[in-house]
Amino acid sequence: MIRQAVILAAGLGSRFGSRTKEMPKGFIEIDGIPIVERSVRKLIEAGVEDVIIGTGHCASYYEDLSKRYPCIRTVQNADYAATSSMGTLAVCASLVEGDFYLLESDIIYDAAGLFVLANDVRRDVILASGATESGDEVYLAYGSDGRLSRVGKDKAKVLGPSADSSPVAELVGISKIGKVTLDKMLAYYKSDPALKKIDYETVLAQVSVSMESPVFVRRVEFYAWAEMDDEAMLDRAVKHVWPRIQENESLHAVRREVLLDPGPSTTSDSVKYAQVCPDICPREAEFGSLVGWCAESLTSFVADPKDYTCVMFGCSGTGADEAMVSSCVPPGGRLLVVDNGAYGARLAKIASVYKIDMDVFKGSPSEPLDLAALEDAFKSGRYSSLAIVYHETTTGLLNPLEKICPLAKRYGLVTLVDAVSAYCGMPMDLDALGIDFASATSNKHIQGMAGIGFVICRRSELEKQKDWPMRSYYLNIYDQYRFFEETGQTRFTPPVQTFYALRQAILETRQETVERRFARYSGCWNILVAALKEMGLKMLVKEEHQSHFITAVLVPDTPRYSFTRMHDYAKERGYTIYPGKLGNIGTFRIANMGDIRPSEMERFVGILRDYMHSIGVC
Ligand SMILES: *Cc1c(COP(=O)(O)O)cnc(C)c1O
Repeated sequence: MIRQAVILAAGLGSRFGSRTKEMPKGFIEIDGIPIVERSVRKLIEAGVEDVIIGTGHCASYYEDLSKRYPCIRTVQNADYAATSSMGTLAVCASLVEGDFYLLESDIIYDAAGLFVLANDVRRDVILASGATESGDEVYLAYGSDGRLSRVGKDKAKVLGPSADSSPVAELVGISKIGKVTLDKMLAYYKSDPALKKIDYETVLAQVSVSMESPVFVRRVEFYAWAEMDDEAMLDRAVKHVWPRIQENESLHAVRREVLLDPGPSTTSDSVKYAQVCPDICPREAEFGSLVGWCAESLTSFVADPKDYTCVMFGCSGTGADEAMVSSCVPPGGRLLVVDNGAYGARLAKIASVYKIDMDVFKGSPSEPLDLAALEDAFKSGRYSSLAIVYHETTTGLLNPLEKICPLAKRYGLVTLVDAVSAYCGMPMDLDALGIDFASATSNKHIQGMAGIGFVICRRSELEKQKDWPMRSYYLNIYDQYRFFEETGQTRFTPPVQTFYALRQAILETRQETVERRFARYSGCWNILVAALKEMGLKMLVKEEHQSHFITAVLVPDTPRYSFTRMHDYAKERGYTIYPGKLGNIGTFRIANMGDIRPSEMERFVGILRDYMHSIGVC
């Protein structure tokens, strides 16, 4: 897995004349997006979490870009005018931790190139293409073993006497390089001040030939890419290369199904593709560090990892609830479960299966909880623990945990929260909310694949469980936590590929941010609510108590209505909707979760309107 990329972006771009006088080349736009920004997006989609950009000429452009892309760090090459690309790589080198992609800033390329390099078994590989006739080629010569020997712009010189018979390989400007090779490149560069203006590719050839670090050329004959050094090259890129890149990439697009059900949710293609990775034994250290990284990242969305830790299991969200309820009530303790919907009832059911002493506090599924009555229950001194759902997915009702949990803590209760359909859908701070344990899953708002359930635990409360007898074996939180702390491995076989997808989903959540994700969901919800009102359909819960994540709609009062027919009508048009979950009141539910866009919600409300019209409702 390649976690880092370095983009060399210091150059003056003087051959563009006035166009790049006050702007770096990377900010030339194609189809409305700067080429370097598109490159950063491709790197994120390929699983890169840390993009280091070496800047020089007009560095402020990159600093502004880094404000919109939290994965970007910029490093300025102060001496950019007097050095070359190797000088810029040298200033970035101290941030590089392992294998990384090295890219030039002024290229457009098919993202398949990153996949090819990542999956090449060799460590140091330069991506190359066949002849482009672009006018400013850098040629590569390599032996029959693929090892790079010479590089340069003079084709005859590079290819040598056998120029006619050797295949032409052109440098693309994307390479995969290991830390050892980078260190050798630096040593060579620093060995002689006369090398100040040397290009990184020339240094790579040096290292490959004379420093026992072979660098290989991976030649992809018809690879779609273009570099931009002047107006003619830009023209060629826009007219001939960009359409090919778009076409190639469209061949990998997965047919879109928009899930408006409350989980699993719609995922991005990059999350789907993250599961396509080399097989790995989960007892390898590399996999352990992936799990540890996921745990810390999941925690950091809602808490400080110093105070909280995330314990994960291969299971659905209910598995996380079951782990939490069965593990976190002390022996001899008594649990109060708030039930104002199907998921609260499920928490109570789990507690009863484990024969945990318990009382149920019933609430209306559509009205806010009676906080005074709840406080009386806390005050009674009967309970060690509280279990409550944050967002009741049955109805879309959001329970005011910011009031309830601090109150419960004031009376000494430990708080167990089913945050499955709230986590990462809206900003939350577990400590500020007074939450000790929060359950969630990999497949709802975090937008990964189903299969990993996790509980984010306050460390001080988790440590208390050290000597408690286990109620469940597989789902015991403390044992799962202790084993991973001691060995860096999960106790049992984890859903390996689901972890790679989760990692990608975390990177994409960091990029979007939870705040903006909530704004996106709210945008979709506003479109839905406006359309429901226009159609004369009523919602079960008052708007001000709704989460914006799911909307329970009362079914229209006509015998012509059929959920199945409405579902099938929407499904044929690419949308999946969900029935209600309340026994006595007829509802259907529309969720705003996952990778859905306002434009898709616009289209959906049109479909809903057409169906309602067909049964005479509007
Ligand atoms: C989705 C959900 C769950 C878990 O459902 P699974 O099907 O087990 O993943 C639990 N609680 C709430 C509030 C939910 O929305």
